[in-house]
Amino acid sequence: MESIGRYFVFNSEQGTLSEEKRSLPEVGDFELLVKIDYCSLCGSDLHTYCGIRKEANPTILGHEIVGTVIELDKKNEILDLSGSPIHINDRITWTVFASNPKTEGYNPETPQKNSGLYKYGHRQLTEDDNFHGGLASHILLKKDTGIRILPKELPLPIAATINCAIATSAGAIRLCSSINAKVIFISGMGMLGLTAVAMCKEFGAEKIIVSDTDYSRLELAKEFGADLAFNSKDNIVSSLLNLPIDRFIDMSGSPEAMETGLQILGVNGVAVFVGAVFKQRAIEIDAEQVIRKLLQIKGLHNYNYDDFNTATDFIIENYNKYPFAHLIEKEFDFDQIEEAFEFAVKNKPVRTGIKID
Ligand SMILES: [Zn+2]
Repeated sequence: MESIGRYFVFNSEQGTLSEEKRSLPEVGDFELLVKIDYCSLCGSDLHTYCGIRKEANPTILGHEIVGTVIELDKKNEILDLSGSPIHINDRITWTVFASNPKTEGYNPETPQKNSGLYKYGHRQLTEDDNFHGGLASHILLKKDTGIRILPKELPLPIAATINCAIATSAGAIRLCSSINAKVIFISGMGMLGLTAVAMCKEFGAEKIIVSDTDYSRLELAKEFGADLAFNSKDNIVSSLLNLPIDRFIDMSGSPEAMETGLQILGVNGVAVFVGAVFKQRAIEIDAEQVIRKLLQIKGLHNYNYDDFNTATDFIIENYNKYPFAHLIEKEFDFDQIEEAFEFAVKNKPVRTGIKID
């Protein structure tokens, strides 16, 4: 077996990506060594790359990853979240975090907020703690990482997006409480918004209304199942007030979009905020309306193990039914990593893919 791997180190002070080669790590208890096949660049990778978001420094970016098991702890049987034993050569996806359930204060509903979390693609790189990000030839998966074995026919670019964008969308849908026969409004048609549209369609929504500032994204949303699409630059409140809306999901992070969503929610409405993961102005909330309409406002950051399972099942079942393959707008080879970031920052595609061999 090969014993040397490589990764690109991101240094936020210099804004550089530089290649390093290191011996592959030893596999410990309940750990797996995975050869990375594909990594897609998530919005948060781009924010870190551009300096909008602060990560541990230096680090290995990339957390939307799919790979193949090449070595695993032989003393302990490792099961995936559906209960199947994991073997060498299995293609797998995994949660962006490993969360130890024995930690004091552990909440199974929110394992992603546990203390002492091991989070892939977000960690400080040191001599002893490396191979933990997606822009690498290999990754070492720790105990308590949620894993799912994937069918080999699932295309790699789609499989890569399961463990961030798709799983977070599944979390947003869970927080909506119910989707069936409901009128849904989703703002922000990036990867998460488009996925949420398709999920709402599959989960029996009566009507799905979407907004974005980009007309091409609105067209794309219709291919994912949206019934009505509005440009959020237009005044959409008056056209939507009389519907009314049962569920509102904000994937845009725009204060104006969140204020609009709260305004048009009907009685017993639920709002789920997902997109606003960066510093911005405070939004205005009309408390009287929240009270009289019995509204609930919930926030979601990342996802839990159930959401990851829902996302994996959803993609295995539906990847051909909706144009998920079109969302990875351009692919680059591993050695073109800087071109890939430059392309993604300049052109703002839904996703940019990196093939890793
Ligand atoms: Zn992400």
